[in-house]
Amino acid sequence: MKKAYLTIDDGPSVARRQKVDVLTKYGIQAVWFCMGIDMEARQEDALYTIENGQIIGNHSYNHPNFSEIDLEQCEREIVTTDRMIDELYQKAGVKRPVKLFRFPYGNEGVKRGFFDVAYTDEERQRVERIQKVLTDNGYTTFPFENITYPYYERFRETKRVDWLWTYDTMEWCVFQEKPPYGVKTIDDVLEMMEIDWPDRWMGLNYPNSEEIIVIHDHPQTSDMFETIIKALLDKGVEFCRIVE
Ligand SMILES: [Zn+2]
Repeated sequence: MKKAYLTIDDGPSVARRQKVDVLTKYGIQAVWFCMGIDMEARQEDALYTIENGQIIGNHSYNHPNFSEIDLEQCEREIVTTDRMIDELYQKAGVKRPVKLFRFPYGNEGVKRGFFDVAYTDEERQRVERIQKVLTDNGYTTFPFENITYPYYERFRETKRVDWLWTYDTMEWCVFQEKPPYGVKTIDDVLEMMEIDWPDRWMGLNYPNSEEIIVIHDHPQTSDMFETIIKALLDKGVEFCRIVE
C-alpha cells in the first residue's frame, strides 16, 4: 500500500466530465490544476468538476514558461486565474476550500534543472518574488512530511508553496512528435510504473515515500485515463483526499 495525492494538469478539455466521472466511480478526489483560458472556454466543465467534489487548482492563465515572462506577467497569470476560480466556486455555490497552484512545466520562474536547486542570488530573488505573489493571494501547500525523496527535501527547504509532483505518469509523451523516454503507447505508460528510480520521479515501487502523482486532462489521451487510474490502484496506490 502506498499513499498518493492525485493531481491532474491542464484543461478543462472536452473530455473533462468523463474523467471526473471516472474519479467518482473509484471514489478519488484530485486537484485539477486548470488553465484560465480553458476554464473561460469550458466554464460548464469547470463547474462540473467542482460540483462533483473535486478541487480546482490554479495552473496559470495561458500556460507560459514562467522563466520566459516578466514578473508583472507572472503576477497577472496567477491573479487572473485566481479570480476566475473564485467566481466559479461562487457560481457553483461551493465554498472554495483551498488555494493550490502548480507552475506550467513545473518551472518556478528560473531556467534550471529540476534536481538542481542551488539558486544564484538573482534567481533566488526572482523565485521568492513569484512565491510572494502566491502567498499574498492565499496559496498554500501541504507539509507532505511523508514524502522522503532527497530532491523533495530541497524543495521543502526553499519554502515554495507551489505543488510539485513526485511521479509523472508520462502519458503526455505519446502524442509528442518525438515521444520522450520512448513512451509511445499505453503499454509503455504502464511499463514506466515498474521502473525503480526513486531519485528521479520513478519510485512507485519504493515503499518509503508518499507520492504526488501527475496525469493530464489532454484530449489526446482521454481514452487512457481510466486504464492508468486503474493500473495505479492495482499497484496498491491508495489515494488521499485533498480536503475533507
Ligand atoms: Zn500544464
